[in-house]
Amino acid sequence: MSMGSTVSRLPMTGAGWRWEHTYAALPAVLYSEVEPEPGPRPELRWLNRQLAVELGLDPEVLAGAAAVFAGSAVPTGARPIAQAYSGHQYGHFTTLGDGRALLLGEHRGPDGSLRDVQWKGAGRTPYSRRGDGRAALGPMLRECVLGEAMHALGIPTTRGLAVATTGLPVWRETELTGAVLTRIAASHIRVGTFEQAVREADPGVLRSLLLHTLERHFPERRGEPEPAAALLDAVVEKQARLIAAWMRVGFVHGVMNTDNLALSGETIDYGPCAFLEVYHPEAVFSSIDHHGRYAYGRQPAIALWNLTRLAETLLRELAPGEAQAVERAKAILETFGPRFEAALLKGMRAKLGLLTAEGDDPALIEGLLNWMRERRADYTNTFAFLAAGRIPAAGGVPPEDDAFRAWEAAWKQRLARQPQSEAETAALRRANCPAVIPRNQRVEAALAAAAAGDLRPFETLIEVVRRPYDHEAATIEDQQPDPRGGADYRTFCGT
Ligand code: AMP
Ligand code: MG
Repeated sequence: MSMGSTVSRLPMTGAGWRWEHTYAALPAVLYSEVEPEPGPRPELRWLNRQLAVELGLDPEVLAGAAAVFAGSAVPTGARPIAQAYSGHQYGHFTTLGDGRALLLGEHRGPDGSLRDVQWKGAGRTPYSRRGDGRAALGPMLRECVLGEAMHALGIPTTRGLAVATTGLPVWRETELTGAVLTRIAASHIRVGTFEQAVREADPGVLRSLLLHTLERHFPERRGEPEPAAALLDAVVEKQARLIAAWMRVGFVHGVMNTDNLALSGETIDYGPCAFLEVYHPEAVFSSIDHHGRYAYGRQPAIALWNLTRLAETLLRELAPGEAQAVERAKAILETFGPRFEAALLKGMRAKLGLLTAEGDDPALIEGLLNWMRERRADYTNTFAFLAAGRIPAAGGVPPEDDAFRAWEAAWKQRLARQPQSEAETAALRRANCPAVIPRNQRVEAALAAAAAGDLRPFETLIEVVRRPYDHEAATIEDQQPDPRGGADYRTFCGT
């Protein structure tokens, strides 16, 4: 944190920023004002022009503002703050806060929505502990490609607006190129923000945060007589849908600590995440998740565990007496399971092109998943095969397998029992089975090239992941599974 010195301000005339600071209007214990620590050589490496346009920003003006995207200058109207939060990390409570992120403020977009604009990697803050407040180019680009992929897949997510290098080296296991990611989010309010607020002696802090979050993300529920119950219920619903969407595409977040669960219902903090290659419920990619706490198949249970931590922070707002409040919380938390199951079943039916509901559908879905697990089949390519009616060029599906043929026959009979046309069911499948996901090896190759100064493979990959449901455009390279099935692929945290 640069104490005393003030970083230059840049007007960015014509950029289209419309700054607001609603989070900064909350009690001051929930954040700290912090100036970024500029690096010597700001250089813009990637600009998300598509997102800029969606936000009503002029990409040409943004392209000329490398200093802003590298955290060397603050755009006029922005007011950098680091947000305070706590969190349960791998089950253990810790005081955290933005150790390497600064919220510039909120931008009012042309659709009227308010979106956080945040720097990641712009220097130390009062919450940095022993960290350097910095980020490396590779992981920041990785966050961008995963965000674009998730967005294109139709899954709520934060997105990268720009990545700029600072000219400062960052030291991890080796020397890496320092970079700043400018991240756009519905907000950065997390379960951990509530875990922090509830520790304040003044009950007004939690109450303000509660009302602020309700107003910001669930304005349709703000007039309800029980605001805490309304918030918890709305967040439970969003998480049930979000986790079902992750499961549908085979996404493994990897570090579902309570500080990485956004109340907005967006996917946030792309650290050690990865997509399934071969299907396995116990798939884990994070190098530090030794016990599989955040394995693919455990994500719904962990989401509920995290939501239970949120409910605990809200107890005194839920009802006057503790016993009554606990009952109220339990009743809401109990809806997570059925809501998740319903969302998942809907998503899986869509993948199989089922437009009607039959009682045996869950068994049909289970049958396919079990087959995939036993045969170590590629999750994405198996569904792409069912969607497009032909084997993806890259393979990953053994079509001559008897067990698969038996399952396929049952599925075809099921399809024949619904009144809709083959065209309708095929369209549903294609819209729900991605032909393309960000394949782990392809992402790594693009990041390696970027580290060596060549951004072209990264730019190409962004274009590819932006059309996940285009089964005609997908090439062998786009659909190529990791030859080892991805089971030994490892991702690293804290980068
Ligand atoms: P994460 O695992 O990325 O969600 O981060 C967990 C906590 O560590 C958050 O409080 C981060 O702000 C903090 N943190 C991660 N990396 C750094 C870093 N390089 N410097 C300072 N704080 C960091
Ligand atoms: Mg985090």
